[in-house]
Amino acid sequence: MKIQMVDLNRQYHELKEDIDKAVLAVLESGQFILGPDVKQLESELKEYVGVKHAVACANGTDALQIALMALGVGPGDEVLTTPFTFVSTAEVGALLGAKVTFADICEETFNIDPKEVRKRITARTKAIVPVHLYGLPADMDELIAISKDTRIPIVEDAAQAFGAEYHGRKVCTFGKIGCVSFFPSKNFGAYGDAGMAFTDDEELGVKMRAIAVHGSQKKYYHDYIGLNSRLDTIQAAILRVKLHRLDSYNRLRRKFAGIYNEKLADIVKTPNIPADRNHIFHQYTIRTEKRDVLLEHLKLMGVPSAIYYPVPLHLQKAYHYLGYRAGDFPVAEKLSTEVLSLPMHPHLKEEELDFIAGTIREFSRKK
Ligand SMILES: *Cc1c(COP(=O)(O)O)cnc(C)c1O
Repeated sequence: MKIQMVDLNRQYHELKEDIDKAVLAVLESGQFILGPDVKQLESELKEYVGVKHAVACANGTDALQIALMALGVGPGDEVLTTPFTFVSTAEVGALLGAKVTFADICEETFNIDPKEVRKRITARTKAIVPVHLYGLPADMDELIAISKDTRIPIVEDAAQAFGAEYHGRKVCTFGKIGCVSFFPSKNFGAYGDAGMAFTDDEELGVKMRAIAVHGSQKKYYHDYIGLNSRLDTIQAAILRVKLHRLDSYNRLRRKFAGIYNEKLADIVKTPNIPADRNHIFHQYTIRTEKRDVLLEHLKLMGVPSAIYYPVPLHLQKAYHYLGYRAGDFPVAEKLSTEVLSLPMHPHLKEEELDFIAGTIREFSRKK
């Protein structure tokens, strides 16, 4: 039994026939940059999400950067986000010369706490960037209320949550802009880098599309300073095949999370599955004070696990210049010592779930 955190090989073999056909068709077409598959993917995904504009780009980090650029974020501005996320979320604001500010998270959801967001807003806050961490939508009702009160736009970082719903509506439809990543290990992953930004706003849609191709709407005429951030046609063709499986894969993730919860709830802190939102379990993350020893034990037994994330962003070396200190965001700091993500992908087998849960039970009996 070779258990993987994410098993892309089993997935490829399930879809091999269709994926091979789609990739070969791109090779035959000779249209490798912004070919028809990219346009078709944009139109299929904007329909799936339920928004008017979808802008394909090279990766999820670029999607976030393009979103902030379209909103005009720059020096003198602040971008408010969670310290408990992948670095991209903060990195893009810093790259644009803005000051990154953080608000602590909710212990139960791992997501940014709207009460903390209210406290951290200043006259310079130009965008609020909540992350739907691990696939669980953030408290969007509260965040939208804040956005309405303050007129500060929200950019959703949905890199880990494509297809997740909050009160029956897909993520990426709540903020001014919603961004996703199709990095291979994400719940909707390509076989290379890819990303997309979604919006209902006509002006932002047009501007983001231009920014992704050197700021031009007409070739060799540049209206904005832009990026070279195109989604590869081969990746678009692969994603179009995988789109047919997205909902069933998300359902399987939820089912396996339910099985883990049943087997583990009495020995570790298992994730909540709130009734008002649809968690798609990009990661299945437990909490325990014995996290580091458990990780070692699992490793010894051949069970992979991972820590997302061991150091909150405000304590990362690259962000020391912001002036934050240990103790500034106690919830994020505490959770970073307790979280452990277990193998989660749609091709897990019952016996693998049994083995992983059994290994954790055995550990808890010994300690
Ligand atoms: C993966 C990820 C990103 C970045 O996506 P890339 O496609 O790897 O650039 C941004 N935010 C979060 C929360 C992520 O998990």
